[in-house]
Amino acid sequence: MFTRKGILFVISGPSGVGKGTVRSTLMPLVEDIHVSVSATTRPPREGEIDGQDYFFTDPARFQQMIDNDELLEWALVYGNLYGTPKEYVTTMLSQGNDVLLEIDIQGALQVKEKMPEGVFIFIAPPTIEELSRRLCGRGNDSEQSIQIRLAACQEEMAHMKYYDYIVVNDRIEDAVEKVRSIITAERCKRKNLNLG
Ligand code: ADP
Ligand code: 5GP
Repeated sequence: MFTRKGILFVISGPSGVGKGTVRSTLMPLVEDIHVSVSATTRPPREGEIDGQDYFFTDPARFQQMIDNDELLEWALVYGNLYGTPKEYVTTMLSQGNDVLLEIDIQGALQVKEKMPEGVFIFIAPPTIEELSRRLCGRGNDSEQSIQIRLAACQEEMAHMKYYDYIVVNDRIEDAVEKVRSIITAERCKRKNLNLG
């Protein structure tokens, strides 16, 4: 009966809080949402597919994307560059499709400047101790890099005030259900419907 405007959902939060886990658990449960594939200079991890997990890019090409204004946002995240290709996001939204970004906090704040009508969701850890356990358990990071991420988290929590929703990722099922409910509610908002 009604058509809708495309909505931009941005999931963000400290490293290790479970953003990627929330996104991948959520995706099969939500219809008609399009995940933006980021560009990164980080090398692929085992099993990651170019164009699906990321666009794996060398630093020269990444710089070219910055210079050509091809990125909606970009940031240096723990030694690697990451950025959101702009055209995919703007085209999808203009066609009435919803788009999901899962990006770090520096990137989310840039998107908020450019697209304040987006829906900004901060994933918070239940406690710093639990965040530390998750970073250790993930097995990707050295002791030093875990300490850097935990120190950054204290400062990152101060950015919660820029977000529309705060979801504590305690039990994964609960966090995913909350994000799913946010998406459902935003889709029903009158301002997002084309009422003519
Ligand atoms: P991020 O994308 O925010 O850096 P990940 O999704 O990689 O974080 O999650 C970090 C680690 O925490 C992973 O090992 C993941 O399996 C685990 N994890 C995520 N959510 C939960 C949760 N709710 N409870 C326990 N462990 C979790
Ligand atoms: P990973 O290398 O573990 O896949 O991601 C590392 C961090 O980079 C995560 O916090 C993830 O959310 C963030 N990230 C992934 N893609 C982007 C992006 O396009 N822009 C920004 N700013 N951060 C991103």
